[in-house]
Amino acid sequence: MARYNGEQCRICRREGCKLFLKGDRCYSDKCSVTRRNYGPGDHGQKRSKLSEYGTQLREKQKTRYFYGVGEKQFRKYFEMASNKKGITGNNLLQILESRLDNVVYRLGFGVSRAQARQLVTHGNIEVNGKKVNIASYLVKPSDIISVRETKKDNPVIKENAQKGATRPIPEWLELDSEKLSGKVIRYVNRDEIDLAVEEHLIVELYSK
Ligand code: SF4
Repeated sequence: MARYNGEQCRICRREGCKLFLKGDRCYSDKCSVTRRNYGPGDHGQKRSKLSEYGTQLREKQKTRYFYGVGEKQFRKYFEMASNKKGITGNNLLQILESRLDNVVYRLGFGVSRAQARQLVTHGNIEVNGKKVNIASYLVKPSDIISVRETKKDNPVIKENAQKGATRPIPEWLELDSEKLSGKVIRYVNRDEIDLAVEEHLIVELYSK
C-alpha cells in the first residue's frame, strides 16, 4: 500500500480534526490541531468550500488515515460492510475497529495505531494463544489478545505498560494489565468511536 510518509500532523490539519497518528503527543497540548486548527501551508487559513463529492471524499480519506488503511483494503471493508445486516456506515466502522492493530492500540500496548501495527507484524502478539502477525486480522467477541510470553520484555511494550492507561480502555474491551492481555467483550458501538466522521457520506461516495 502507498502510505503517506510526510509529517502526520499535516494530515490532521488538512482534515481539520485530530486523527491520533503520533501517539502521546496527540493527547497533549502540543498537538498541532489544538495549537493551529487551520490547514497547513501558505493558504491553510483559507478553507475553500467543498463540493458534495469533495466532502464525501474527505470523510473517506479521514477515516482511512485514522485507521491507517490503504484504498484497496478500505474498499474491501466497504463491500463487507454492505453485505452485512444493519447500517452500512456503522458496519464499516465496526469492521475497522475490529482490526487487530486497532485493538492492540486500544488496549494500550502501542501508543499509536502505526506502532501497534508494527508490534503485530513483528510477531509480538497472539490471539487465543496463537501468534498472529497480520495487522488486518479481524477479532471477534470472546477473543483474547495478548503479548506473547517471549515478548513481554520488549522495551516498547514495557514502556507503554509502565505508562499505564493514558487513554481509557473502551468498554467493549477488557484489559488485564498484569498479564498484558485483553479480551473482546462485544463489538463496538458507534458512539464509542472517537472519530468525528459522517460515515453515511462514505456510503454515498461508494454508492455512486
Ligand atoms: Fe499531530 Fe496527533 Fe495532533 Fe494529529 S492528533 S495533529 S498526529 S499530534
